[in-house]
Order: sequence, then C-alpha cells, then structure tokens
Amino acid sequence: MTCLAPDEPIRAAIAALAERSLTRADPHPGEGDDGIAQEIVALARAGILKLPIRRHDAGYAYDLPYRRALPLLVGLGGADLSLGRLVEGHLNALQLVALYGDPDQQRRTADAVEAGVLMGVWGADGTPPFAPEVREDSEIRLHGSKRYCSGLGLLSLALVPYTAEDRTLRLLLVDVADPARSDASAWRMRGMRASRSGAFDFEGLHLPPGAEVGAPDDYRREPFFVGGIWRCAAAQLGAVERIVQLSVETLQASGRAEHPLQLARIGEAILAARDARLQVEAAAAAVESDGDPKLATSLAAFSRLRVEAAGMLVIALAERAIGLALFADGHPLERMTRDLSVYLRQANPDHLLLDHTRQLMARLPEIFR
Ligand SMILES: Cc1cc2nc3c(=O)[nH]c(=O)nc-3n(C[C@H](O)[C@H](O)[C@H](O)COP(=O)(O)OP(=O)(O)OC[C@H]3O[C@@H](n4cnc5c(N)ncnc54)[C@H](O)[C@@H]3O)c2cc1C
Repeated sequence: MTCLAPDEPIRAAIAALAERSLTRADPHPGEGDDGIAQEIVALARAGILKLPIRRHDAGYAYDLPYRRALPLLVGLGGADLSLGRLVEGHLNALQLVALYGDPDQQRRTADAVEAGVLMGVWGADGTPPFAPEVREDSEIRLHGSKRYCSGLGLLSLALVPYTAEDRTLRLLLVDVADPARSDASAWRMRGMRASRSGAFDFEGLHLPPGAEVGAPDDYRREPFFVGGIWRCAAAQLGAVERIVQLSVETLQASGRAEHPLQLARIGEAILAARDARLQVEAAAAAVESDGDPKLATSLAAFSRLRVEAAGMLVIALAERAIGLALFADGHPLERMTRDLSVYLRQANPDHLLLDHTRQLMARLPEIFR
C-alpha cells in the first residue's frame, strides 16, 4: 500500500490552514467561530469545495478519486478537525446528489457549490423529530427538527434524510441558510466547538415539488451509505497522526523523548496510527473499486472502529507522556485531543462491530488472502 500525499493546490491550502489553526482561539461552548467561516471562504477560493464536480449535459459526476480525497481529509483533519468534519459532510452531500439527484438538482447544486456554497447531510433527529408531510399538490411541508447539525450558518444546502411511513429512507434537498432556524447553543460539548454544530428547526418550511433526491431507499445503497464513513475515518485519522507528531515534537523539545518509557509510548502511538492509516486506505480503495459492495462496506465500518481505537489510545498516550502541560489553555494538543475525543463518538459502534463481524467472519479466505 502506498502512502498517499496531497497534490497542489491542496497541499498549500492545508499548510496555510494548519499554521493559522494553531493560533485561533477555540470558541466557548455553543458559540460560533468566525475563523471557521473565513477558512471555508479560503477553501472555496482554493477550488477545494468544487473539486469533485465534473459537469456534463445532464448535471455533474462526482469525480474525486480516493487518492485525492483521502489526503485532503487527512490533511484537513490534522489541521483543524472541525473543518475536516465540515468538508467530509460536504463531499458526502456532493456525492449523493451526483449519484441520485435529477439534472435540475445537480445543476442547482453545482451552481451553488461553484459559487462557494458548503453542503452537509443532517440525519440525526431532534425533538420533536423531523417529519415531512407530503401534500396533495406534491408540495412538502416540514415539521420538527434535526440535531447535531454541523455547519449551522455556514451551510446553505443540506441533504436531510427521513424515514417515510412505508419505512423507506428518503432524502430531501433543503435550503438551510436561514439563521433564525439555527440553534448553535444546543452544542454544549467539550470539543468540536468550531464545527458550528447544533439544532435546526424545520417547522413550517415549504418545499416545492422536486425536493426529493432519488428513489425511496436509494440513500441506503452500498457502498455509499455505511461505506461512506471511510471519509469520516480519514478526517479523524488526520487528527490521530497530528497528535502523534506533536507529541513527539513536544517530547523532543523538552529532552524527554529518549527515555525508554517515553520511546515505548511513541512506538505504541506510531503503531496505532499506522494500523489505522492502512485500514482507512484499504477501505477507501475497496469502496471505490468495482468489487463487492458488501465487503467494501464492512472494511469501511472496521476502518472507523480501528481509527476510533487508535484515537482513544493516542490521546491517552499523549496525556501520559506530556503530562499537565498538555491540559493548559492554548497548548496545541489540548484542543486537538478534546476535538478528537468528541468527534470519535459516532453512531452505534457496538452495532457496527457486531454486524460487520458477522459479515466478515463468513469471508475470511478473501480477507486473509
Ligand atoms: C462533531 C460532530 C458533528 C456531527 N455532525 C453531524 C451532522 O452534520 N449531521 C448528522 O446527522 N449528525 C452529525 N453528528 C452526529 C452523528 O452522526 C451521530 O449521530 C452521533 O455522533 C452519535 O453519537 P452517540 O454517541 O450519540 O451514538 P450512540 O449510537 O448513542 O452510541 C452511544 C453508545 O451506545 C451504544 N448503543 C447505541 N444504540 C444502542 C442500543 N439500542 N442499545 C444499547 N446500546 C446502544 C453504542 O454502541 C455506544 O456505545 C455529529 C457528531 C459529532 C460528534
């Protein structure tokens, strides 16, 4: 497996971002962060938001091979995990519209993104839960809310999934630019405060006919549904690797890196980060190949679990190796470890492990080839 490296202009944009992120203050819980809005503008200017769009007569194709997407997400995750999360959601939304959207939806999306618009996928239900009502004239009236919505005030378009009465999963393309409907104060978390996450109130919004993206249950199609989590794992991996790198630099600067117990911690951290990288690269390659979508999906699920374990380990090792200084306000590892510990909390890891263990144990000869 080769080590993937970012190309230009991605490398230059990420290097500048990494530099700025070290000095940017973390917002207080529930408050926005103007710095992140400027970073989104910088990414748009560098052409990164529209990178996957390849226009054709009937809309656009999603054309960002994993060999370019993976280093982009790893680089962003290492520079600023909140930004990595936002771009990961943006790529997910762009891919879904390319896969399932009709020509009008694709043109609208491509026009918006080429003008600098950031997108996302808001799936987690709030209280009361998101509940669209399809009226006789095919107009859709929205009720309820979503929570944990990343990019409040930054996104203008979101894909919003819901389960219909017939239990199929549907996707709506919704304009979410209205700041009056956003509640960033709902994100009272210890990390990922710059991700502008929170609740969005859809109550009373009307959508014209044609807001539904794809056919019922298209959204569930693999390897793009669960399989797509390799991108989330890639952004997390960026933070894992940066924590290892900064830990080593900190220990070297204080003359403590050569102590055998510190060396052992560094070794454990490198092992965990490398294992995680190899799994994420393999999962991304499998998802994008024409191979078996079920196998690719399981590899992506396992890569997320491997990154989760690696993340928890490197955070613990960094805290133990560096000690109290790491916990000080303004220490680069303080915010990074806090952000990663929060972003690692993704939906139902137990189910992911059990479900994909069942899948993979039936296919060991293929995996151990
Ligand atoms: C920074 C950040 C940004 C996010 N942005 C978005 C976004 O833009 N859009 C979006 O839709 N979502 C977003 N999310 C939410 C994300 O998609 C998940 O919904 C969320 O992270 C789930 O975390 P959880 O710990 O509540 O998961 P849970 O699934 O509640 O897991 C918690 C624990 O409970 C276990 N568990 C789960 N179900 C059961 C059960 N039935 N019985 C027993 N045990 C169970 C799990 O295995 C785990 O151990 C974001 C999350 C983060 C951290």
